Amino acid sequence: MQSDVSPDNPDVEANWSPVARRINKSTKLADVCYEIRGPVMDEAKRLEDLGQEILKLNIGNPAPFGFNAPEAMLDSMTHNLQASQGYADSKGLFVARNAIREECGRVGIPVESNEEIYLGNGVSELIVMSMQGLLNEGDEVLIPAPDYPLWSAAVRLAGGIPVHYRCDEGAGWYPDLVDIQTKTNRRTVGLVVINPNNPTGAVYERGVLKSLLTWARQNELIVFADEIYSKITYDDVPYVPCASLDEDVIVISFDGLSKAYRAAGFRSGWMVLTGPLDRAADYIEGLNILASMRLCANVPAQHAVPVALSGAQDIFDMTSSGGVLYEQRELAFDLLTQIPGISCVKPKGALYMFPRIDTARFRIYDDERFVLDLLRDKRLMVVHGTGFSLYEPDHFRIVFLPSAPVLRVALGKLSEFLSDYRQH
Ligand code: PLP
Repeated sequence: MQSDVSPDNPDVEANWSPVARRINKSTKLADVCYEIRGPVMDEAKRLEDLGQEILKLNIGNPAPFGFNAPEAMLDSMTHNLQASQGYADSKGLFVARNAIREECGRVGIPVESNEEIYLGNGVSELIVMSMQGLLNEGDEVLIPAPDYPLWSAAVRLAGGIPVHYRCDEGAGWYPDLVDIQTKTNRRTVGLVVINPNNPTGAVYERGVLKSLLTWARQNELIVFADEIYSKITYDDVPYVPCASLDEDVIVISFDGLSKAYRAAGFRSGWMVLTGPLDRAADYIEGLNILASMRLCANVPAQHAVPVALSGAQDIFDMTSSGGVLYEQRELAFDLLTQIPGISCVKPKGALYMFPRIDTARFRIYDDERFVLDLLRDKRLMVVHGTGFSLYEPDHFRIVFLPSAPVLRVALGKLSEFLSDYRQH
């Protein structure tokens, strides 16, 4: 009788051929869009491989633009390198969590103890973890549009549904509370608030935040407060932490070393849980399981956290009038808004401008194509607005991290490009 199994491995069918099998990505990724890395990035890589130099105004990565982390952070990491070889506590080193708790005290986040603080490999890991630990198939999370795409991607990956609420450009990009109210239903479990905001640069007033928290309390939503730009505001606009406003709402606040401390490559961020956490004991157990599954966050970088938080906050010199980030924001705003067909709400925080482009004037119907055309023609890279879950192709995002001379060159190129650009 003929055997239908391989003699070497009885589990493998005799005429199975490895060449025929296609390796596909998991279906869990089917609805995950992550446009910040996509066809535009691929084209940029292709051009760079051909030896072309590209002006990259697309990612908020401070170090390549000469914004280095404070020396004391590097010293602390090097000094503690020897002691950082082993795994650490899965939620983070005592010294790091203690420093974060003290910082919470300074800014008004009412954290009970170090137990409510989790260190992660960047805020990114904690965003994914907080969604994986919470969501079941079909659970909905309210996310701002424009969004920071990782939030929508993390919700999808965890089996949930990102429901985008409108931020209103006409109202300084503030969240549209009525839209949030209309989109809340019994499957809604969370509300994401990004403040100061990427990509719009909006910084929300206390009153706006209070209304969001009241809505969250009335509907028993967890607020996910992404506050990674907490220390980057301009014109003396205060940053108000969500968690400081309503102690009856469960708030998870996110911050980290990537932006204000210019150490994005260290991959260090944290999340802090506050509010009536007894209601969330089971979710917290889930978070603890997930934290243990990844063993721990990058240990050397955790040694930089106490120094970062307790040291001189030189970021404030950069963001106050006359400071380098302040001046670059002024310049970028002036140059952008001088271009016919471009308008922009001036950002009050973060590192980005999110200009509106007159689509009728340039006959733009596909903003990704606009960005690709700009890249190919001028070697200038920006991000298209629909990559941030906007429906209309009428915005793009730039960072104002480049120095003044580079910004002049870049925005000169944009102006030149737009002078005769029309999509067909
Ligand atoms: N949240 C927002 C709003 C961001 O803009 C970024 C990075 O640009 C992140 C989170 C991710 O930060 P991290 O470098 O800590 O992963």
